[in-house]
Amino acid sequence: MKILMYSVRPDEQAAIHDWADRHQVQVDTNDLEFHPDTAHLAQGYDGLIIQQRSAIGDDPSVYQQLADWGFKQLTSRTAGVDTIDVAAAKTAGLTVTNVPAYSPNSVAEMAVAQTMRLIRNLELFDRRIGQQNFQWAGLQAREIRSLTVGIIGAGRIGGVAARLFHGLGAKVIAFDPVHHAELTDVLTYVDTKEDLLKQADVVDLHVDLNPTSQGLLDAAAFKLMKNDAFVVNASRGPVIVTADLVAALKAGELAGAALDTVEGEAALFNQNHADDVLQDPLIAQLMQMPNVMITPHVGFYTNLAVKNMVDISLDDVLAIAQGGTSKHTI
Ligand code: NAD
Repeated sequence: MKILMYSVRPDEQAAIHDWADRHQVQVDTNDLEFHPDTAHLAQGYDGLIIQQRSAIGDDPSVYQQLADWGFKQLTSRTAGVDTIDVAAAKTAGLTVTNVPAYSPNSVAEMAVAQTMRLIRNLELFDRRIGQQNFQWAGLQAREIRSLTVGIIGAGRIGGVAARLFHGLGAKVIAFDPVHHAELTDVLTYVDTKEDLLKQADVVDLHVDLNPTSQGLLDAAAFKLMKNDAFVVNASRGPVIVTADLVAALKAGELAGAALDTVEGEAALFNQNHADDVLQDPLIAQLMQMPNVMITPHVGFYTNLAVKNMVDISLDDVLAIAQGGTSKHTI
């Protein structure tokens, strides 16, 4: 049994070696994305795992090629499978699997951390201290237990975020068309997005990206928010209309934002642009704003999440290669 993993980062190697030792299975790695021109590297292996930013490509013959080489599956060690032509893979007889929930806590804790930074004015203090200005005037904080956190999208990650915020003493409200009875001890559902925007001191986004959530926060939404409220987005960039957010921040319609994900991020995130002039005018403006914090889509990037992505994906490959099934089949 030999498994090949594409696009492996150095920080994944420890978990990969650990899994390979435990299962006595050969796992080889490379740092390349899987595309038709790199597919030949997989020949001779029994299992295949990918994780990449760009789509495999339009040519469906690559999936048939994998099947002809004896592969039974194609696994992404991420939640998203938009890089894979799932229909073409299935037509070729491949089982496609993903890792839908590697650690909801990883992203939920990121949202809590950024919320605390916002309400404690820590970014603003960092900027003052960086200029040797040690004054505190004007930056009185608010305690989380005095605030209402509004979670839009209380699914796996939003549900954990609700528990964490509740544990810190916040009042938690949520808008989600799907209600989970097990969350009602920590949150109160509201009927509309508008209700939530009017009440929340922190609007925390955890929706999946779909036609109803694309552009969920636009100019009209920001007008409904309290002027001293914050927005935290660790979901997907297009959930916020960035141009409208920039305009709303300039108009003082909200107090600040923490963005772990933003429209157009693929051209910047996880790359070093230290010597470049930023080409995206909206992201460039957000970067200049002292009340905006940008992180490069790292909510998922924790010790436990990375280990789970490796372990769950390899477990699935092994199960399918040995004739079994995976509960993560797309
Ligand atoms: P999930 O499917 O468990 O939960 C999403 C919830 O959003 C569901 O309960 C759904 O009913 C709700 N929802 C969908 N559309 C809505 C709308 N228009 N209004 C209100 N609610 C709506 O998903 P999850 O696993 O909790 O992931 C949530 C988000 O986190 C996804 O967008 C995912 O891409 C993102 N994510 C980010 C990172 C990161 O590193 N920042 C990592 C993993 C996942």
